[in-house]
Amino acid sequence: MDIDHSVVDQRVATGTLPRANDVAQLVQDSYNHALPHREGEVASYIPELANANPESLAVVAAQVDGVVHAVGDAATEFSIQSISKAFVYALACHALGHGVVRDAVGVNNTGLPFNSVMAIELNDGHPMNSMVNAGAIATTAMIPGQTEAVRWDHIRSGLSDFAGRELHIDDEVYRSESATNQHNQALGRLLQSYGKLQRDPLESVDVYTRQCSLALTASDLAVMGSTLANGGVNPVTKDQVVSAEVCRDVLAIMATTGMYQRSGEWLFEIGLPAKSGVAGGIVAVAPGKGGIATFSPRLDHAGNSVRGIHATSYLSKALALNLFASQPYVD
Ligand code: GLU
Repeated sequence: MDIDHSVVDQRVATGTLPRANDVAQLVQDSYNHALPHREGEVASYIPELANANPESLAVVAAQVDGVVHAVGDAATEFSIQSISKAFVYALACHALGHGVVRDAVGVNNTGLPFNSVMAIELNDGHPMNSMVNAGAIATTAMIPGQTEAVRWDHIRSGLSDFAGRELHIDDEVYRSESATNQHNQALGRLLQSYGKLQRDPLESVDVYTRQCSLALTASDLAVMGSTLANGGVNPVTKDQVVSAEVCRDVLAIMATTGMYQRSGEWLFEIGLPAKSGVAGGIVAVAPGKGGIATFSPRLDHAGNSVRGIHATSYLSKALALNLFASQPYVD
């Protein structure tokens, strides 16, 4: 990741955010810092995603006290895509417990692209983790419910609880991805052949495609991240969506596998659990402090929003969020 570390000093985490006025100013500064970056390409392998406005940019910070700072196109809707994986994983852990999903899906990075067939083959049919497509399809198939409709409703309403408002499918994106998701169907079949999928592969991929097609704004996404930062309580609605233990599990997976095959680089440079999606969203979580969401459609080669990387990097330093930054103890 080509990050200019000279633009802002790394501050050391104190346990709390700066005052709200200062956070608001720094969110604006991060937006200004990210805006000139025009590198990267808008995703087009799902045809509908190619219609996104490449110039869109939103930066939103949602504090755990419910204060939200939004700059730019924070009301523009986009599809959640892979970011749904983190929240569906949370719902699966909430329903089934820490050990069940860990044992069935795994928690280790593949080091390979998000839709890799090779990763399954190299690991004896194991899906490896819930943030790659194979593991996400397996996780979605674990969501309880007698019918596909009930399971889908469980996911849609669960993600809506994280956001604090009812989320709905973007029909254009769903249709476009459904017509072109043969690769994901093949992943589902491959998992089935190894006995690693609990339900019908095509049905599991369909529910997965629906969850990826949910439309939301950067403001929604920041509140979703802030819920993970706040022990599972939505800071705006005050609803307990999942337990604090589930949040801890989800953040650990996001830290190690959330940013595709650049997850190590992201953690090294920015030091926060995060998840990105190919429509251009990124959510990063500072435990006990809040969620940061960015939206900008131009992506790097791994599928991460270029401006999102720059804005989040800026805020991680300026708001003292990097989990690994410390300074010597003074008597
Ligand atoms: N629905 C997309 C796919 O399965 C999600 C990709 C992503 O955001 O990483 O290809």
